[in-house]
Amino acid sequence: MHTTGKVTLIGAGPGDPDLITLKAIKALQQAEVVLVDDLVNQAVLAHCPRARIVPVGKRGGCQSTPQHFINRMLVALAEQGQNVVRLKGGDPFVFGRGGEEMLALRSASIPYDIIPGITSGLAACSSLEVPATHRGYTHGVTLVTAHTQNGESLPWRALVESNTTLVIYMGMQHLATISRELITAGMAKEMPCMIVENATRDHQRAVTGSLQTLPMLGHQHQMQSPAMIVVGEVVGLANSADTLQMLGQFEQLKAVNAN
Ligand code: SAH
Repeated sequence: MHTTGKVTLIGAGPGDPDLITLKAIKALQQAEVVLVDDLVNQAVLAHCPRARIVPVGKRGGCQSTPQHFINRMLVALAEQGQNVVRLKGGDPFVFGRGGEEMLALRSASIPYDIIPGITSGLAACSSLEVPATHRGYTHGVTLVTAHTQNGESLPWRALVESNTTLVIYMGMQHLATISRELITAGMAKEMPCMIVENATRDHQRAVTGSLQTLPMLGHQHQMQSPAMIVVGEVVGLANSADTLQMLGQFEQLKAVNAN
């Protein structure tokens, strides 16, 4: 009779393999089997050279592994007594379906641990020198996905009224909707926006502009997923040297900040 193994849900961070936590590295070193998402930089697998690696993300247009199948696999491997790591991009609990996996483990009475990671939305901001919150500009930041479960609409008005920096995940198919709906809900057309593709990776690219120009920016520069959309006055602080385009209408914000 063997003892039950365990599962560690790990956030691998936004892409740069150095942006993983020490705790995650220690857990990877102990792992016997690692289930990896496609957003994870393969370089982090150097920390678990002896583990069996099971890719469960979608690559090259292939179908992704169904979530219920991953849940069952995690439970089954742990029941075999294995030390299992589930490695996800960013943070496992920020649009990472880590919650579903945790609940599956909980209901099967499998021991588990959660190791947070740096979420790509906040990493995208800092990589462009954009503070997600900044006194005098905004009192908060909202992480939101444009990809809702049944295609239901986002609470656009509430998002506008929140006066927070909007960090929008999975939004590249919805640039026109995001721009139109936020403007309709009362946000200024000139509100600074940026799209950050492959944040913290070697081939990171970013464009900045205004809410009104958001769809055009994405199209013109052929911005590809994975990419983050950030909307808010703090985007006016982006380091223009790191962006492909800077429309400059919020330069005055920088001047305010410099004083
Ligand atoms: N759990 C992840 C998010 C998974 S959802 C996290 O915390 O970061 C997948 C979405 O995350 C993508 O569609 C994209 O919007 C965003 N994303 C992930 N990695 C990214 C990166 N390196 N740069 C920009 N966006 C990224």
